[in-house]
Formats: sequence, structure tokens, C-alpha cells
Amino acid sequence: MADGSQAHRRPLVAGNWKMNLTHLEGAVLAAEVAAALPSPVPVDVVLCPPFTALQAVGDVLAAAGGEVMLGAQDLHWQERGAFTGEVSAGMLAALGCRYVIAGHSERRGLFGETDEMVARKAAAARAAGLIPIVCVGETLEQRRAGRVEAVILGQLEAVLAAVSPDAGLVIAYEPVWAIGTGEAASPADAAAVARLIRDRLRQAGPGAGDVRILYGGSVTAENAAGFLSEPDLDGALVGGASLDARSFAAIVEAAVKP
Ligand code: PEP
Repeated sequence: MADGSQAHRRPLVAGNWKMNLTHLEGAVLAAEVAAALPSPVPVDVVLCPPFTALQAVGDVLAAAGGEVMLGAQDLHWQERGAFTGEVSAGMLAALGCRYVIAGHSERRGLFGETDEMVARKAAAARAAGLIPIVCVGETLEQRRAGRVEAVILGQLEAVLAAVSPDAGLVIAYEPVWAIGTGEAASPADAAAVARLIRDRLRQAGPGAGDVRILYGGSVTAENAAGFLSEPDLDGALVGGASLDARSFAAIVEAAVKP
């Protein structure tokens, strides 16, 4: 279905554990998350541990029934070769990953990832059967300069040159100033950017109504419902609060659309 209505898009909540937890600690948290969620899990839920914990977390999630899915935090766009320290989409798929984050603002800001690199990562993910969660978002400086629209559309442009908009693509709107700061965007502002993204996706292809658009940036158990009740937001990408099973489960619960 590609009618653009929200009803057919299954909400998605992804936990980005960033560079936290060993594989042993990750296995414990994954078991806690699985136990904290109702069965059947009412929305799509993905845990994105560090590379080193993927195997252990994947094993725990599979043993818990396989309802909570495995994702990675990054990938390289090449399939294999002399790229020391990098991990390919095929390697992630072989470990059971279903999703992979691409272009997180920490990757863009701290490790120099460009829009073109992010687009190549998104395309490589899709080629391996993974769903890329592509992050876009403006800095505080850009917001203050009134450049939100230009920045978001610019970041999207590169992705759309490499990947068609359909159910195999997730876009996460993550204002950089809201990530890890405790200062979330307002639900209305986040929804306005989601509409901007959806409108641009619609121009790019008939499957645009199937792309899920998430909000990320200091989402907590307390503020999640405000975002997730917005019809233009299909879920959340959660950093800090995903490291606590009860908080994360509460966010998942808030994502269930009536
Ligand atoms: C993130 O890592 O994508 C994120 C949104 O982090 P936090 O929820 O901690 O702001």
C-alpha cells in the first residue's frame, strides 16, 4: 500500500546503544528488554548494540522468540576488502541483523561522514537485504540561522539519489542539538519536519507513503507519547533511554497507535 496514510505503517522503536555495554552486559540488557515487552510485541522493536555485542544480543533475542529484532549502528558500503576496522552489510546480515543505522550525527560530526558516504551506506544496506535507518538533522546553529529545511532536504537529496523511498527505508529525524542533551524538540516541531520529509519523499517515488519516519533526540519514557501520538511520526530512535529496559519498554508502549 502506498496511499500515504499512516495506518499501514507499523510503528518502529529502535534502541541505539552507542559505544556502551560489553557483549556480556548487552546479553543481559537484551534479555531484560525482551522480558519487559508484551508478547506479541505490538510494534517493530530493534536493538542496535555495538558490533562486538551483535552475536550475543542476537542469540538472546532469538532465544526469547525472535520478536525483537537486531540492528547495527553503522556499516561500510564496500562488500569486502582492505578497509581495516570496517564491517560490511553482508557481515551484518549474516549475523541476523535486519536494520542498520546510517549517518547518525555522531558519525557525521565526529568521523567526517558526508551525505554521499551515508547514501552509499544506505544503498549497500539495501543490497544486502537490510533496512537502513538513515539519520538526518540540523545543528543548533543551522536551526538558529533558519536553515532547517535546507539542511534536511540537502541530506535527503543524497539518499534519494541512491535509494528509492519505500518500505525498505526508514528516515530518522534527529536534531543534533537534541541528541544526548536532555533537550528534546517539541512534538509539533518534529512532526513539521517529518511532513517536510514525507513531502520530499512523495516527489521521489510512489512508495513514499510506506517509508517510516522516526523522531530521535532525548526521547524518554516521560516524553515519548507526545512524539508518538503525532500522526506524521512512525516511531522513535532512542539513545540513552534504550539502556534501561523499563524506560525502553515504556517508549515501545507509547508507540502503539490506537
Ligand atoms: C541517538 O543516539 O540517536 C539518540 C537520539 O540519543 P538520545 O536518545 O540519547 O538523545
